[in-house]
Amino acid sequence: MVINRALKIRIYPNKEQEQFILKNLGCCRFIYNQMLAEHKFVYEQLKNDKLTLYKYKYKTEKEYKQEFEWLKDADAVALQQSRMDLSIAYQNFFKRLKKKVNSTQLGFPKFHKRGVKDSYRSINNGGIFIDFNLKKVKLPKISWIKFRDPRIIDDINIKSATISKTKTGKYFVSLLYEKEIFPKQINLTKPNLKTKGLDMSLANLFVDEQGSSPEYKRLFRTYEPKLSKLQQVVSRRQLGSNRRKKAQLRVNKVYEKITNTRKDFNSKLSRHLVNNNDVIVVEDLNLQAMAQSLKLGKSVNDLGYGQFRFMLKYKAQEAGKVFIEANKWFASSKTCHVCGFIKKDLALSERDWVCSSCGEHHHRDTNAAINLADYGLKEIGQGMPKFTLVDIKALASEAIVNNADDVELGGRNENIDLHII
Ligand SMILES: [Zn+2]
Repeated sequence: MVINRALKIRIYPNKEQEQFILKNLGCCRFIYNQMLAEHKFVYEQLKNDKLTLYKYKYKTEKEYKQEFEWLKDADAVALQQSRMDLSIAYQNFFKRLKKKVNSTQLGFPKFHKRGVKDSYRSINNGGIFIDFNLKKVKLPKISWIKFRDPRIIDDINIKSATISKTKTGKYFVSLLYEKEIFPKQINLTKPNLKTKGLDMSLANLFVDEQGSSPEYKRLFRTYEPKLSKLQQVVSRRQLGSNRRKKAQLRVNKVYEKITNTRKDFNSKLSRHLVNNNDVIVVEDLNLQAMAQSLKLGKSVNDLGYGQFRFMLKYKAQEAGKVFIEANKWFASSKTCHVCGFIKKDLALSERDWVCSSCGEHHHRDTNAAINLADYGLKEIGQGMPKFTLVDIKALASEAIVNNADDVELGGRNENIDLHII
């Protein structure tokens, strides 16, 4: 099985190399914004004449290069990629228009601002190399750049490189490469498969079928007082002054720390779970929709659950273990794990409930996690004998009317970033 992997390493460009990277970042942002402005203009003119709009031939980066000569100094492939990025953003805009899923999200693609998403991507046409012995990486139009990362990947077949600058002034390159893996699939018929059901929890990341949760720190919450203090300093400083830049850098460093700590935690936890289990079952949640529509944005994003789930998924895949996302209409919370009775009117606020059919007392999240684990075993053909099968399809039609579960937001989260090791 061939999979895509990314190796992200911090690079240490010298002054000259840094100048070139900054120039490239600027050129890519410039061409993206120019093209976006053109798209916007054309859209306004032709939005009522869809046929002409769809056929419209936009200027290519070649034409822009004739107009703005200095673009010729940039990495040509990176400019091309910027056009493709815009084209994808523009297509997504039309998809949103068509679906009309969320009227507040219908906006046009946004202009790229300096310092917000500072990165550019170059495809490997023979100009990207990495030397793990000398600890140097070669990028298009730039000489070899140093790095210190100790990791070594044998026979790395690099497809592309994304060069980025963080808000704290660090430079990174993310190398996308293909890797062939030969996972040893676990034997699904063996008895006593170790199965984990994970019910997402806003308080503790998840609750498992034993009722336990990881010791999860709400990092953003923890750092919020510090952040707001630092943010106040920024706003007191004069716009454009060096002192303001320094104050802003301190804010950015705290955010960076939060992101890195969370990633590190998620990485270790997912590794532990995959190593110690055969089958892992989670709910299928649309985290983006949750963040938007339940006004839980901060909690959901702070949780990093999407990242955690994605790590579980690829680590399980690599290890030949089973990762299952339960059908989005599976009512994991409302189903009694003992007798299969479904409590349709279970409110989100009810943390405990008693099954009116068999009398079992349930802790909401633990019951859900048990159901998820059972669901997983059924999926691979190993139903638990005590578990009464619930007709998922019948449930689904009911759930549409009744809004299945806790979160009631099905659908996959499509916006999870590519895995970075
Ligand atoms: Zn029951």
